[in-house]
Amino acid sequence: MKKYPSAQDHLQEANLFLGKTTFLKAYPQVESLDLTVEAHPIGPDGEHRFYRYSLENPPGEFCPCPNPRCSNGGFRIGIFLGQMIFDKQTQGTSEGLCVGREKTGRDYQMCPYLFKAEATVRYKSEEP
Ligand SMILES: [Zn+2]
Repeated sequence: MKKYPSAQDHLQEANLFLGKTTFLKAYPQVESLDLTVEAHPIGPDGEHRFYRYSLENPPGEFCPCPNPRCSNGGFRIGIFLGQMIFDKQTQGTSEGLCVGREKTGRDYQMCPYLFKAEATVRYKSEEP
């Protein structure tokens, strides 16, 4: 079965926002990052999944959606991290719905997946 493209795939095609390799370049002031994202379905069916990111495994603009029927989906963690880093926060959480759509027969509906992200960021000391 062909995998549906994710929101991150579209961004990479458009060369916008954070690609996987650009996190370190975008945020050189970050010394360490610990980001966990929990994805779970709103209803009883579906897969519960955890994602873990660090500077060695940096996140993209979107965390992927575990729903195999989800098209163009994911959760936008790049904007949350960007705001956190801009404010020099060390702890932050963000919750939201998948931005994708799920094909049900001939129709589409909103993808019924919720995401919860928790981040801990440490910063390099400022230049004097
Ligand atoms: Zn989804």
